[in-house]
Amino acid sequence: MNSHQLFRRSRLRLATWYAIVMGGILSLSGFGMARALVQANWVALEREIESIAGTLHDSLEPMLPPSEDPTDVLQQIFPDLCVVDQPCEPNSSLIQRHTLGVSDRTTYYIRLFDNQGNLLAFSPNQPTTLPTTLNPDLWQTLQTLEGKRYHQFTTILHSAHTHSESGQLHNGESWGYLQVGRTLAAFDAEMQRLRWVLLGGIPLILGLIAVSSWWLSGLAMQPIYQSYQRQQQFTANAAHELRSPLASLLATVEASLRLPQSKQVPDPVLLQAVERQGRRLSQLVTDLLLLTTLEQNTTTKPPQPCCLNDIIADLTEELAELASATDIHLSSQIVDIEIHVMGLESQLYRLVSNLMANAIQYTPSGGSVVVSLANHDRSATIAVKDTGVGIPTEEQSRIFERFYRVNSDRSRKTGGTGLGLSIAQAIAQRHHGQITVTSEVGNGSAFIIHLPHIAIV
Ligand code: ADP
Repeated sequence: MNSHQLFRRSRLRLATWYAIVMGGILSLSGFGMARALVQANWVALEREIESIAGTLHDSLEPMLPPSEDPTDVLQQIFPDLCVVDQPCEPNSSLIQRHTLGVSDRTTYYIRLFDNQGNLLAFSPNQPTTLPTTLNPDLWQTLQTLEGKRYHQFTTILHSAHTHSESGQLHNGESWGYLQVGRTLAAFDAEMQRLRWVLLGGIPLILGLIAVSSWWLSGLAMQPIYQSYQRQQQFTANAAHELRSPLASLLATVEASLRLPQSKQVPDPVLLQAVERQGRRLSQLVTDLLLLTTLEQNTTTKPPQPCCLNDIIADLTEELAELASATDIHLSSQIVDIEIHVMGLESQLYRLVSNLMANAIQYTPSGGSVVVSLANHDRSATIAVKDTGVGIPTEEQSRIFERFYRVNSDRSRKTGGTGLGLSIAQAIAQRHHGQITVTSEVGNGSAFIIHLPHIAIV
């Protein structure tokens, strides 16, 4: 499988998992919300029925007849109700008269039962399939043969009358039962609408989630892909860098071997070339290993306080010979106070020497290189300034990349591998610092290292 397919598969897998998780969460919350909405509507509906039943009960209580066969009296006080076994006028407005805000009288129906559970009177709009005997359950949901649903509440009716000793009712005792019910047509229609919204909305949302998952997984894979590409580029560059000295080394050795045996005396020029290429190879491999160690942070040595003043003084002395060989004036400006940073001395040496060696290398004869050490607030600042060739602005952001050279031919001639600044930057970062560069072509460059210092003595 090539890398493109591998990344595509990883992206697909990431997008699928993302879509499954997001889709699951959203669907669950969608159904949860819908359920909460249904529950809230149902509770409101029951509260409304209860309140109507309460209002009716309070209105009826003083009017209820004490007699055992109350149908005649009921007909007088409830002219809108149908009394059992008597002709019925279907123009009920009882609920309208007794309750506020009930605009549609076809929505509600009431039924009155005596104490034994026999139906006495009922609204003409009650469902036709209702039984004439009482089911005393507090709440009931009924369904007619046509599929219409009703929800009904049953409460005990109390009479305001006090009955005599001959077994009649006493004040506050049960007179019978009142049932108030309502059609669930509006509620069911609302639920149906909600169901459609869920059925239509959830696939749409899942589709959107799938598209956004694909896009988001692409975003998430991008840094990995770029890092993978950088790694591949690095491997290719490393191989290329290793191949040139190896090829030249082999060519030199082969040329020597092709000579007749009598002439195969060790040629110093040849041996020097082999040694030069060998050193270059060895330097390259050492630099690559150092970079890997720095990036993986695998060094086992503990950091310790390092004096920057000493490092700069030592390096100025060490590189003075190299500078004077090319007629470059190398000087240093170091503050009187000692500045220490926590780190590895060998790495800090490498950091400053890389910048100083570059400054000397890229400055023509007669130029100057100045290394300075200063203390700014909580950081130590090491500046390496030269009057050399400078770096074009558009190249300045790339010079810290591995194997990047502004002018490969020129740089290769100086023996550079293109790893010097990458190593310097990696060391600065390991010491919680950074390197900045300002440069102008033809006027020189200034590399400035900022490192957090620990103490000033
Ligand atoms: P090299 O080993 O080729 O010097 P570096 O990583 O040290 O690689 O530097 C990268 C590139 O940055 C070099 O090829 C060089 O062109 C440029 N460069 C670095 N330092 C300087 C400097 N002081 N003046 C001009 N160019 C520089």
